[in-house]
Amino acid sequence: MTTTLLQPGQIEAAAGNIPELRLPPADLFLTRARRLERRAQDHVMGDYLRFVARLAHAQHRQLAAGLPTAAPAAERLAQCRAFGMPPLAPAGLARPAGWHDTARQLARTIQPDLPPIGRGALRLIQDSPDAWLDEQASRLLDGDTRHIDAAVAPLVGAALQVHWTHLARQLDPAEVARPELPNLCPVCGSHPVSSVVRIGGAENGLRYLHCVLCSSEWHVVRAKCSNCDNTRGIAYYHVEGGDGGVRAESCPECQTYLKIVHQDKDPLADPVADDLASLTLDLLMDEAGYACSGINWYLVHGHP
Ligand SMILES: [Zn+2]
Ligand SMILES: [Zn+2]
Repeated sequence: MTTTLLQPGQIEAAAGNIPELRLPPADLFLTRARRLERRAQDHVMGDYLRFVARLAHAQHRQLAAGLPTAAPAAERLAQCRAFGMPPLAPAGLARPAGWHDTARQLARTIQPDLPPIGRGALRLIQDSPDAWLDEQASRLLDGDTRHIDAAVAPLVGAALQVHWTHLARQLDPAEVARPELPNLCPVCGSHPVSSVVRIGGAENGLRYLHCVLCSSEWHVVRAKCSNCDNTRGIAYYHVEGGDGGVRAESCPECQTYLKIVHQDKDPLADPVADDLASLTLDLLMDEAGYACSGINWYLVHGHP
């Protein structure tokens, strides 16, 4: 179990000035791509991490090029805030215009880099009608990963991430209510991928959960299960011999875990890239009888 001491920069935060919500920055996917490239070096999953890095670079280009969809109107945002509802929940929104084209464009961009076995899935994305893509998206958004093609999921997920990240970037944190359930994103109601202890400024030393869909991050104190709110018997696991930069926070009550990526160990650590690069920890947690409460769309079968 780790203990955290308050640093001088945190005293202000402890007095109630904690940034509860971090909306995604413009360079989110670019930072992720570079981190994936770095983690791919001498990694047993190096080829796959490099593939995802190319996908993240393509996501960055799509986001930077601009998208036509606008966030919900002020009246709708106020309504969601009043009722404590996430304003960008997929169930309450139409699929963003142009998301099918984004998925096809991502597939076209990364196709030349893939071995023949991976190209079939990408051709499926390029050649299938919009309705088929919508069905794949619904399965992913519903968490029905058993009925989604694992080769298709990273691309479909990546396209959805681009559009929801674009929408989330248009919000103001003050417009978003704190959710009833700490394990769901306040902005879109989706599950986290993992969590990250951030460094610098008012966020120094604070733990944030990172949304799989809209890339927003919300503050949840450490040593508290983000899945069931339990605070008793929380234990931390990491792979022996590693630097402890990624740990699994496990809960004996609901038998789940969520990873914590530590920027205080490595300032460049990214909650999605480092989650993907620490699959060995997932395998160990599975052996120990814990289920992962997070999900990473870049590898939907990575979490048993
Ligand atoms: Zn979200
Ligand atoms: Zn729990």
